[in-house]
Amino acid sequence: VQGDATGAAIGAEGLRRWNPPELGMVFPGRFIPLAEQFGLNDELTRYVLEAGIGTLARWQGDPATAQLRLSLNVSVQSFNTDDFARTLAGIVDVHGVDASKLTLELSEHVMAQSHEHVAGRMAEVKKLGVRLSLDDFGTGYSSLAYLKTLPLDEVKIDGGFIADLEHAESNRALVKTILVMARNLGLAAVAEHVENIRQEAFLRAFGCDFFQGYLYGRAMPADAFIASLAEKPNGGPRHIQALRQSA
Ligand code: MG
Ligand code: MG
Repeated sequence: VQGDATGAAIGAEGLRRWNPPELGMVFPGRFIPLAEQFGLNDELTRYVLEAGIGTLARWQGDPATAQLRLSLNVSVQSFNTDDFARTLAGIVDVHGVDASKLTLELSEHVMAQSHEHVAGRMAEVKKLGVRLSLDDFGTGYSSLAYLKTLPLDEVKIDGGFIADLEHAESNRALVKTILVMARNLGLAAVAEHVENIRQEAFLRAFGCDFFQGYLYGRAMPADAFIASLAEKPNGGPRHIQALRQSA
């Protein structure tokens, strides 16, 4: 679940779970390396795009949920394949979605690829109206000069920095710097793994735009997410405002 600075839910990040009855729940940390090992990465990416964009189409079919955004994680390897943009365009087309509500999250590893190649791929995807986010930001691969030449919409501050905000001055300094940088480059900033109101207050004070984490809702099936919004008549996690007032 992702919220904005007012505490309203603006959308969600789609997370993959593989739930074969004979094995029980398998998390991405295990099945992604397996998919890579067996050369199924592109199949997996296609499946994630199909499932995610299908979900977005259902949301957009209902005025109550039409404004929600969905972020999907895409591996740098798949993003770099020649027909990625064509595949994505095909799926967007079939489902007839407003692609501006779709965000693709790419890990910072994308910065380790050839600049020309990545910039070209990104431009193709941007033509479809899809937003691009740089995930796990701050963990090590970004050069600032590089960053400003790519058509990104958003940086997503790595959750590791958020978890330690309260305990480490160095993390506070780093997060502040990232937020200032994002603003100066005209990028939206998203913080993930936000777990409590103190972390959120710090992030808001320094201009973070969007927030994601347990404070707004645990990972849950898409239907449960929509149901959780419907339970709150004004839309959005109203309990955030109540928590802020009591803090
Ligand atoms: Mg992500
Ligand atoms: Mg992350």
